[in-house]
Amino acid sequence: MKNKFQFLLLAFFILILFIINGCDVPVFLTDYLTKKYDGLTVSFIDVGQGDATLVECGGEAMLIDAGLYSEKDKVTSYISQRGIESLKYCVATHPHSDHIGGMSQVIYRFDVETLVYPLCENDSDSMNYVLDTCDETGVSYFNPEPMDTLTLGDATLTVLSPEAYADYGNLNNNSIVLKLEYGNTSFLFMGDAETEVEKELLNSGYNLSADVLKCGHHGSSTSSCAEFINTVNPMVSVISCGKNNDYGHPHRETLSTLNKREIEVYRTDQLSSIIANSDGKAITIMSKDEVLSTLTAKESSEYSYTGNLNSKIFHSNDCESLKDMSEKNKINFVKRDDAVLKGYTPCKSCNP
Ligand SMILES: [Zn+2]
Ligand SMILES: [Zn+2]
Ligand SMILES: [Zn+2]
Repeated sequence: MKNKFQFLLLAFFILILFIINGCDVPVFLTDYLTKKYDGLTVSFIDVGQGDATLVECGGEAMLIDAGLYSEKDKVTSYISQRGIESLKYCVATHPHSDHIGGMSQVIYRFDVETLVYPLCENDSDSMNYVLDTCDETGVSYFNPEPMDTLTLGDATLTVLSPEAYADYGNLNNNSIVLKLEYGNTSFLFMGDAETEVEKELLNSGYNLSADVLKCGHHGSSTSSCAEFINTVNPMVSVISCGKNNDYGHPHRETLSTLNKREIEVYRTDQLSSIIANSDGKAITIMSKDEVLSTLTAKESSEYSYTGNLNSKIFHSNDCESLKDMSEKNKINFVKRDDAVLKGYTPCKSCNP
């Protein structure tokens, strides 16, 4: 009899657990880091203070940056764990060691077709080491210009910056900026490009809209200015940085710009490696054995409404009062409903 009672008690507790959890049971994933997904897969590899992003599509793969030399084993083992033996492109965004320190090891370890790097005034030992490795192993070079495209399976990457030998006085701004598009979904990879480049991009007329933004320069306040964030208008941002790094990345200002606009922030220092998988319509973001979010691609890059972060009033884009609104106070909405859902009330004069 006692056993039967214990069994009933256990059954009762299991039932209660089900009721408490309801539909909000988190989806736990066991093999998400090694699983082969359909569509496009982007991995933001945890390399501490640095950058390394792996992109896979249609049986082809490419690496954008490879972290510090000290992180080389993390990068190579991550790529092998994904079952990859050859890389169509390795992109060295700019000659800083937190981006390309591990690149030579990647080139030695994998079958790399082409190294993509920016032409700039460069006296970096790290870059010379990468170029020597390419010569030694017969890897070809490509120096892209804005509007050049790379293809990876059915995905397209468009180079948005920099011009060859652009003289910024700061190599971060010579970073190769890439917009990745797959079906209706899009990602923007900024490297370490700072606000000077963001302003140039805003003036370029390029379509900067993206669903996922990999923030420039590890979330530093020298990147991710409000006007740029408003125009890219991402749903999710990713910041690659190390725990308790010496630079204080990501900076408070950047987090506040993103948080005010309710843009989700995922950080490698908090989550370790992050995987995003796109089927062309929606993007699923995973980390720590869990689905963090699923986002449907934006229907349009055109936003018709602008809200004021302070007054919580929104306007149609032709409203006179927008002329006096500071860019720092603006938030853009594609649809009227988006503004209403976020608690914004319509302006009394433009009646959006
Ligand atoms: Zn960097
Ligand atoms: Zn840099
Ligand atoms: Zn108005």
